[in-house]
Amino acid sequence: METMILNFIFFGLIITASGQRRATVSVNSGNVVPVNRGNVMPGPFHWTNGEGEPVEQEEVIELQVERADAIDIPDPIHWTYGEGELGPSHWSTLFPEQCAANSESPIDINTYRTIYDASLKKFAIFYDPPLPVARFAIHNNGHSVEVHTDSGQFYLSNGGMRHLYKIDQFHFHWGDTSHVGSEHTINGHPAPLEMHIVGWNKDIYRTLKEASTKPSGLHVFAVLFQISPFDNPELQPIIRVLPRVIDPDIPVSVKIPATPIQNLLPKHPDRYFRYSGSLTTPRCYTSVIWTVFEQTQYISERQLNYFRQMLLHDDHSREQVWPTQGLRKHMINNFRPVQPLNGRQVFRSF
Ligand SMILES: [Zn+2]
Repeated sequence: METMILNFIFFGLIITASGQRRATVSVNSGNVVPVNRGNVMPGPFHWTNGEGEPVEQEEVIELQVERADAIDIPDPIHWTYGEGELGPSHWSTLFPEQCAANSESPIDINTYRTIYDASLKKFAIFYDPPLPVARFAIHNNGHSVEVHTDSGQFYLSNGGMRHLYKIDQFHFHWGDTSHVGSEHTINGHPAPLEMHIVGWNKDIYRTLKEASTKPSGLHVFAVLFQISPFDNPELQPIIRVLPRVIDPDIPVSVKIPATPIQNLLPKHPDRYFRYSGSLTTPRCYTSVIWTVFEQTQYISERQLNYFRQMLLHDDHSREQVWPTQGLRKHMINNFRPVQPLNGRQVFRSF
C-alpha cells in the first residue's frame, strides 16, 4: 500500500457522555488527507464543551456485562504467571508445539549489538486522532487489563513493514514493585510497566485469529514506562475505570471514548528496535513482528497501584504465590521472563 486516501465528512454533532456533559465534535471540513509513507496523519478533529474548553474524556460511555466466553475464548489448558506447574517455566512443556520455538519473546535487547536498518522509517497511524464514534472497551481478561480498540478502525502502516495492520487491542504487563514488570528488558534492565499494542495483518488474513498463527501475521508495539512523580494524563481515562473491571470472574467491559494511539507512544516513536518473535502468552505463536520503542513513556506509582489492585480468576489463584486480598490474589508480575535470542538479529531505526 503506497498511498491511501482517506475522506473526512464535515459534520457537527452533540454527544452526551454520562448524561452530564454535552460535547461538540468538530471535524475539519471536506478534507481529503493523503497518508504518505513516513507520515503520521495530522489531527482532524478536537473535542470541546461547546465553550471552547477541552472536554475530559474519561467519562464512561457504557458499562456492559457480557458472558465471559463472549470476551475471551479460553484455552482448555490453563496457564498462569505463578511459580507453580502452570507458570512460564513450564509453558514449553504445556505447549510444546508453540512455546518451545527458537524465536520466542520477550527478549533482552542489548543495544550495543543492534544493527541500523535504513528501511525502518516512521509509522503511519490512522484514524488517529480517532473517529468520533471510536471507543476503548476495557476489561480484565484474567491475565492483563485489555483495551479493545476495534471500533476505532485504527490502522498501522510503514515503519519498515510491507503490510497494513489493524490494531485490535492493547494491554499491559506490570510488577508488584517498580523494579520489575516489563517483558522486554533493555541492556538487562526491566521497566515497571510495558504496554503492548497488538495489530493484525489485514492485507493477507481475514481475521485476527487466522493472522495470529501465521508468519508476519501480527505486529506489536512495545512501550516501556518509567516512574514519574506526575500522573500520566493519557493513561488516566483508562486507569480511572480499572476499579470497575477489577474482577475477571465478573465479566464486565467498560467503554470510554477512544483517545489518540499516538499519545500513548513515546515522544519520538521513530526511534525503535525491530525483531521477529512470538506472542508472550500461550500459545506463544511465532507470528509477531516486534517494535520496541527506544524511549519510554511515564506513569506515577499512584497510577501503577491501580493495576496492582486487579484480581486474578478465583480458580487461578490457588497455585499463585502472590499476596492475597482476602481469599483472592492480585494480578501482579504478569510478565514472561526473557527468552534466548538463538542467533536472531535485532535492528534499530536510528
Ligand atoms: Zn503482552
